[in-house]
Parts: sequence; structure tokens; C-alpha cells
Amino acid sequence: MDGHIVALPTETVYGLGADATNKEAVANVFKAKNRPSFDPLIVHVPTLKAVQEVAVLSKRAEQLFLAFSPGPLTVVLPKRKCIPDLVTSGHSTVAVRIPAHPIMLQVLQASGLYIAAPSANPFGFTSPTTAQHVLDQLGTAISGVVDGGPCTVGIESTIVDMSTDVPKVLRLGGMALEQLEQILGPVETQLSSSNPNAPGMLSSHYNPGATIELYPDREALVAAVSSNNDAIGVLYWGEPLPIANSFNLSPKCVDTEAASNLFMGLRELGKSKVTKIYAHLFPEKGLGRAINDRLQRAANK
Ligand code: AMP
Ligand code: MG
Repeated sequence: MDGHIVALPTETVYGLGADATNKEAVANVFKAKNRPSFDPLIVHVPTLKAVQEVAVLSKRAEQLFLAFSPGPLTVVLPKRKCIPDLVTSGHSTVAVRIPAHPIMLQVLQASGLYIAAPSANPFGFTSPTTAQHVLDQLGTAISGVVDGGPCTVGIESTIVDMSTDVPKVLRLGGMALEQLEQILGPVETQLSSSNPNAPGMLSSHYNPGATIELYPDREALVAAVSSNNDAIGVLYWGEPLPIANSFNLSPKCVDTEAASNLFMGLRELGKSKVTKIYAHLFPEKGLGRAINDRLQRAANK
């Protein structure tokens, strides 16, 4: 890639890809995103063999890859020397994922590269799930975008730290906790922004350009909308509501469907010039946990 950076489709969100061993390209990723250097990047590889080239793989971590890769699961492991410190923000560990998108896999296989790719959005804003989203936000800062259609998972990968004796989930994402626990047993989660092991998980993120208020309860949300005269956007799920500026994430309340629509919904409502978005939290199971996590971060100033 010669120091150039290109946005690539993955099944989670679009990534801004750089040859992970090319320091100039990696530096360009941080620059284009305005991403602080303390926020490490995920390295994408095509096979388990390549995972072992960039990281030291324990038996338990290997089990995880065999069960869930390619897919929306990122595993933090002790890093090998071929990965520059810039990629891992100086950490002795590297976050590795085998993505499932056929185009991303083809790029990885054909290039033979390890691709460091954070979400292709300016730091602190909503992650892109279409090529157009990337162009809207980063069009002038990058060399190009490969259009692979809308992302099917639609939220970022689940991150699990397997570099210590006790596995820890650092980010809830496209792989449900319940699935991980089938392999690992009950796992700890450590999601807060103060977690030094996941320096990039800031409590304020996914800024859609409007204030967000969260409602666990649909009736309370509907009552709040009807008693308010401001321009309100509504992000919800379930039976369609006759409300202007509303976006239904999943009429049948299916977590995977809601996840795939979440960032599109936040973006659409953000564009509609509403000053506030009222969002109905999802049931806290499956991908609902990750959906609520993103809504909470979007609601934090
Ligand atoms: P993004 O690429 O924007 O999806 O964000 C990737 C996230 O992965 C970062 O914000 C970090 O929290 C996390 N991450 C990447 N590398 C590591 C690592 N070595 N240790 C812990 N967390 C990591
Ligand atoms: Mg990101």
C-alpha cells in the first residue's frame, strides 16, 4: 500500500486500512482519523497461521479462533516483533481479528499483508457501515474506498483480552457474550474508559450531532415525545410508531437486525436537524448489550 491508506469493507464496519508493518501508513491512519496515538489499532489477518505470525497464541485463544473466526471477534494477545509499537500504542499486546467479509479476506490473501484497520470515521464520531458514509466523513483524507455494500453485522467487533490468565471482555460488539461464554465459561467484562488495557474505549463516542436521551421503557419514551415541542428524533424498535423523524431499528425486535441498522439510524436522525434524539434501549441480552453500550457512549458528552 506504499504509505497510502484505503477504506475497506468488513462485516462489522468499514475500516481504514494500512499495511501494519509500514510505519508511515500507520501514522497516516492516526492522522486521517485525528485519532490519539494512545488508542491502539486492530490488526486484520486472513488465517490462524497469520495470527501466529503477529501474536503468541495460547491453546485457549486458539479455541476461540477455531470457534468464531472468521467473524466479529477480536482477541488481544502478546505481540510479536513484526508489529510496530505505533500500531499497539506501545503495548506489549496486539489486538487481532480474522474478518469475514469476502472482499477484505481477498485483499488480505492477495496482498499477503497484515492490515491495521480502525473504523473509517473521524475520531469520536459514528462508525461507517456503507462506502458513502466513509466518503461523507473522510473523503478528502484518504486514497480511496472499496465499496463492499452495507456491513451485515453493523457494529464493531467484540474484543476479548486473552493475554492474561483471566480472559476479559474489553468491548461488547458483534459477537454475543453468550456465545463467547460457551467456550470460555463466565467471563469478566471491563468496559470503562478508565481501563488502561483498552485505552481507546472512551465513554464518549459515536457523536451523531444531537443530544441523546435514553429510555429503557417505550411508554415513557412515547409520553416524552408527545409532551415536547422541540424537534425530536426517535430511535426505537418494535411496532412502528407514527412519529416524524423516527427510525425503527427492528420492528420484530431482532438484535442482529437492530445492530446492523444502529449506526445508519443514528446518522439519519443526526442529518434530519433534530436537536435531541430519544432512544429506546434494547433488551440486555445477545447483541442488545453492545447496542446499549453504543447508545450510552453516544449519549455521553
Ligand atoms: P477501532 O479500531 O476503532 O474499532 O478500535 C479498536 C479498539 O481496540 C481500541 O479502541 C482499543 O480499545 C482496542 N485495542 C486495540 N489494541 C488493543 C490492545 N493491544 N489491548 C487492548 N485493547 C486494544
Ligand atoms: Mg472506532
